[in-house]
Amino acid sequence: MLARYSVIELLRQAIKEEVPVVIVEGKNDVRIYEQLAEHVKKEVCVQPIGLVKWSAQSNCAEIIRLFKQERFQLAIKKNDNAKWIMGVIDGDAYQYKPPKFQIHGIVGLFKLSLYSFESYFVSSDNLKDLISRITNINKKQITNISVNYFLDKFQTIKNRLIKASVESLRIFWNDSYNPKYTYGKSWDAIYKNDNGYIDNLLSSEEVEINKFIQDNSIDGERDYKKIINGKWLINSFYKCVLDILTILDKDCQKISVDRCMYCMSKKIELDKCQWKPRAKYSNYEQLRPFLDLCLDNPEFDEIKNVINVLGNP
Ligand SMILES: [Zn+2]
Repeated sequence: MLARYSVIELLRQAIKEEVPVVIVEGKNDVRIYEQLAEHVKKEVCVQPIGLVKWSAQSNCAEIIRLFKQERFQLAIKKNDNAKWIMGVIDGDAYQYKPPKFQIHGIVGLFKLSLYSFESYFVSSDNLKDLISRITNINKKQITNISVNYFLDKFQTIKNRLIKASVESLRIFWNDSYNPKYTYGKSWDAIYKNDNGYIDNLLSSEEVEINKFIQDNSIDGERDYKKIINGKWLINSFYKCVLDILTILDKDCQKISVDRCMYCMSKKIELDKCQWKPRAKYSNYEQLRPFLDLCLDNPEFDEIKNVINVLGNP
């Protein structure tokens, strides 16, 4: 498809060609959703919202705006038309926002249950896959002992990310409130917490933050992927993993992780430790090609399942 079509024209074309259309936010999503469709052997046409006619911006709000149009809603509600087009939007912590921010009754929208697509890449399975791709450790060698070692080290950062997220959400409940941190700010400062900067910043709001957590029954372990900004989460998590890996050869001898054969042997050769990354990686962006290979993991089933039923009789 070369020309720019409106959502209504895309719907007509999908019906005519019997190829469902999936509308996503940006260029990175196109690649990912095309791969997810391949995984379930479904032919779909993935379109970024920025290339749809009358779109002004490339974001979720724009997908919602175009799907909400009365003419489009009338067309999609007719017959079985809803199975031919789907707009994917981020979760954006909607569970923790007031009712006026909830999206109801717009046919054709699929909202991710986690904060955003990035959130799905943070899991034990993906962690194992990633480590086996960038080090000499085999996936089978990585047991829960090692996985928990990484998750434990991430715990403090995760708790800080949750608090910063709760602080960000408070403005949705009170638009005259001036939050100490917002979702638009960087993950970097939260991760580094230089001289306790973020902890100090949030400590003055501790009572209110804890009240919000309690009032919304937020369980850090269960809900962190829903509430933490997906970009903050993926960047922090994999930064933490890389920071650990660069010094892991020392811990490998101390049995905090599944010890590699070199460190287990009596003849210790530090530079041969299998946990050592095969190249120098310093951030998540460099890991993206490896993470793209993780789409087999069960985390992505939720998305694959909705793609899989598109266009079905
Ligand atoms: Zn080792």
